[in-house]
Amino acid sequence: MTANLLDFDLEGLAGFCERLGEKRFRAVQLFRWIHQKGATEFDDMSDLAKSLREKLKTSAVVRALPVLSQHISADGTIKWLFDVGGGNAIETVFIPEDDRGTLCVSSQAGCAVGCRFCSTGHQGFSRNLSAGEIIAQLWFAERFLRSHLERGERVISNVVMMGMGEPLQNYSALVPALRVMLDDHAYGLSRRRVTVSTSGVVPMIDRLGQDCPVALAVSLHASNDPLRNELVPLNRKYPIAELLAACRRYLAVAPRDFVTFEYCMLDGVNDTPAHAAELVALIQAQGERGSWCKFNLIPFNPFPASGLIRSSATSVARFAKTLSDAGIVTTIRKTRGDDIDAACGQLAGDVKDRTNVTTRMSKHRIVKIEAAITLPNAFNENTFNDQ
Ligand code: SAH
Ligand code: SF4
Repeated sequence: MTANLLDFDLEGLAGFCERLGEKRFRAVQLFRWIHQKGATEFDDMSDLAKSLREKLKTSAVVRALPVLSQHISADGTIKWLFDVGGGNAIETVFIPEDDRGTLCVSSQAGCAVGCRFCSTGHQGFSRNLSAGEIIAQLWFAERFLRSHLERGERVISNVVMMGMGEPLQNYSALVPALRVMLDDHAYGLSRRRVTVSTSGVVPMIDRLGQDCPVALAVSLHASNDPLRNELVPLNRKYPIAELLAACRRYLAVAPRDFVTFEYCMLDGVNDTPAHAAELVALIQAQGERGSWCKFNLIPFNPFPASGLIRSSATSVARFAKTLSDAGIVTTIRKTRGDDIDAACGQLAGDVKDRTNVTTRMSKHRIVKIEAAITLPNAFNENTFNDQ
């Protein structure tokens, strides 16, 4: 069977080389060609022996994902829709900023968690992506950006697993993909610059801490269990107390000294002063007056079937102020890629693309900027920076 070399981390590739009767260290050369130079043709890999190239041609491929569409926003944000077969598509988004470039990567086609406010959740689960399909998003984006921007250096400095899907419900593919991201012979990203976002798969948070501790973001969205049970159904299995305890355990191995909580702001549902106060008490009960975490408030991106409404700018600012006044560092997610969002970001249903494949779209959570919000200086602009 032909192997897709994008599926392998360095250890896996070394094993593959061994099975071909080659020395393990050949994997390093091969890995660099694939991930650092973006090569797909074995004949281009000039420092590999001809005999190895011939073996590779019959046993392996570097298989990227077909691009269904690409949208470039006026602010430089780029969104790609990739075909993953069987009528499914996934989204990947590049968000450029002055000092870095962040890639938002998908882990599944659809999602089984079924959060009320999430269009991916509404669509249901199609399938897990393979490690190769996860890494193919980074491989493609890096290659595209480098040729597009005509720059030699790395363009993507941060990866967030915040596209479609629940990464910790696709653990066996996630971990090798993370290892490729971190490997100095591939993308060489620091652990602090790779973030896994989860709706709270408690046992897998612990495993991630053991196997591959990267930065952790947890989608909290509620200040008590009855509300979170409604918004994030997984809460019925892993309630808030267990989730917060797992976050605290994770801190012992985390590359940063905080966990980020994401909180989707839903008008009248989870955004009142009472919710903010309840949240402060919940977080501070875990100790250190809440300085062990940061909050990222995400104004809800509406989609038709949700029946939910985005919180007003005033409610978001008021909520943020309550957390901030209590000493909890809080940011409001910045707006990027507004214009392309309108085109394909927040679709709830299936869409037909030019090739007539029915593709399943996720929401995208690049939110509109709430222009008039003035924030106390305890807010920093970015949640995922290094400070
Ligand atoms: N499944 C993972 C990662 C993908 S979702 C998780 O839930 O964490 C990434 C973030 O976008 C999560 O915090 C999620 O709650 C949020 N999100 C989902 N749908 C949204 C919407 N319609 N508007 C705003 N944020 C949304
Ligand atoms: Fe899945 Fe995350 Fe959407 Fe919930 S918010 S349905 S976990 S992708």
